[in-house]
Amino acid sequence: MTDDGLELLHDFELRKPRALARAISYAEAGRGAALVGALYSKAGRATILGLTGPPGVGKSTLCAGLVAKARSLGKTVGVVSVDPSSPFSHGALLGDRIRLVEHFTDPDVFIRSMASRGHLGGLAGATADAVLLMDAFGKDVVIVETVGVGQSEIAIADLAQTTLVALQPGSGDSIQVLKAGIMEIADVFVVNKSDHPMANQLRREIRSTMEMLEWEGWVPELVATQALSGEGIDELWNAIERHAAYLNETGEIVRRRRDAFVHQVRQLAMGRLAARLEGALRDGDTGDLDPYAAADRILATF
Ligand code: GDP
Repeated sequence: MTDDGLELLHDFELRKPRALARAISYAEAGRGAALVGALYSKAGRATILGLTGPPGVGKSTLCAGLVAKARSLGKTVGVVSVDPSSPFSHGALLGDRIRLVEHFTDPDVFIRSMASRGHLGGLAGATADAVLLMDAFGKDVVIVETVGVGQSEIAIADLAQTTLVALQPGSGDSIQVLKAGIMEIADVFVVNKSDHPMANQLRREIRSTMEMLEWEGWVPELVATQALSGEGIDELWNAIERHAAYLNETGEIVRRRRDAFVHQVRQLAMGRLAARLEGALRDGDTGDLDPYAAADRILATF
C-alpha cells in the first residue's frame, strides 16, 4: 500500500474489481482523500439506495432480491453492507445470507461489508467514500444496507437518494422503529415477511402512524414483500422507480445531492477540527488563563 493509493487509478479505470476493492480499503484506513479527489468527477451517475431496518427483518434477503432485479435489467450493482455489531463476513453469508452468495460469482456485482464500529463518523466516513468509489467505478445501482441501530439509519438518508425502511410483522422492533423518528427518513416502507399472519396489522400501524404526520411532496409508499420467495420485489422496484421519477421531475434530486455533499463536508471538517482542538488542548499553554480567554486563544490559532 502506498500512502494515497493513486497507483490503483489505471486498473480502476479499466474497471478491475480488485482495484475497486483496494480503493475502498484505502478509504477504510482513512486514506481515501487522494482517490476520491481523482475520481470525484466520475461519480454522480449511480442510483444510490439505502436499505435499513432492525436485525432479522430480511434486509440481506431483500438486498439479494434487488440485486437480482437490477441484474435482470442489465444494470451493474454495488452493495455496501454496514453492520455495527457483526460485520457482514463471508462466514455469515454462508448461513442466512446464502442468497447474496449467488451474486458473488457475477463480475457485475460488487459486494463489500464494512464495520462502522471504529470509524470516526460511522456511515458518514468510509461508507460515503465507498459509495462514491462504486459510483465512479461505473456501478449503475449502489445499495447501502445497514442495521437500524443508533444513528446509522439517519445517516443513510443523508447518503441515499431513496431510503427503504424494512419492517417485519409481529415484532416489537418495528413499533420501536416507528416511534423512533424513522418515519421521516423513509421514502418506501417495506413490510417484509408478508406471509406472516400479522402482516396486515403492521400495515395498518404504519398507515396510522403516517396519518399523524404532515407530508409535503413525496408521501412514502408501502410495499409488502416476501423476500425469500421474491414476491413483491417487482413492486418494490417499481416504487423505487416512482420515487426516482419524483426526484427528477421536481428537481429534488439536486437538493438531495447537495445536502449529501454538505453533510459529508460537515462530517469531515468537524472530524478535523475536533482533532486539532484536542491537540491544542493537550499541548496548548493556557494554564494561566480563564476558560473564555483560553478558548479564544486556542481558536485564534486555527
Ligand atoms: P437481516 O438481518 O435483516 O439482513 O435479515 P436476513 O435477510 O438475514 O433474514 C433473516 C431471516 O428471515 C432469514 O432466516 C431469512 O431467510 C428470513 N426471511 C427473509 N425474508 C423472509 C420472508 O419474506 N418470509 C419469511 N417467512 N422469512 C423471511
